[in-house]
Amino acid sequence: MMKVEQGKAERITEVRILDCCHNVAEDENMIWVCSGAVNVGEIAHKAGNLLTYMGKGRTCCTAAVATGSEAHVKIALKAKKNIVINGCGLRCASKILEHVGARIDYEIVLTNDIPMVLTFDVSDDDVKKVAEKIVEEAKL
Ligand code: SF4
Repeated sequence: MMKVEQGKAERITEVRILDCCHNVAEDENMIWVCSGAVNVGEIAHKAGNLLTYMGKGRTCCTAAVATGSEAHVKIALKAKKNIVINGCGLRCASKILEHVGARIDYEIVLTNDIPMVLTFDVSDDDVKKVAEKIVEEAKL
């Protein structure tokens, strides 16, 4: 439990501490999201984090792999499974993994089912549906 200052009000919020990606990758489904700056990128980001909280995998820092961070590339190379969530058909997250030679075990392109809209206002229902679809299709 942690005290969180929010303006003048103070409330108690439970903080869920995540496993360190580096320590768990070999036995974990590592989830890579594009986090694009449109609705489908936002849904990708939130769906990845929801899957993590559901205990189905662990999101990791896709941007760090793109920079060539040795630690993050190693995580992608040794992951039990790499699950990739792309917002649109440009497949940025998948291309980042392909660039470092990491195996992709499952990938999804959200615009195949969800139209791209220039907003970050996405529904929890859409995020949940995407997460559930990934659980089913990737057999997580
Ligand atoms: S896959 Fe599409 S939505 Fe995601 S970062 Fe790339 S261009 Fe943006």
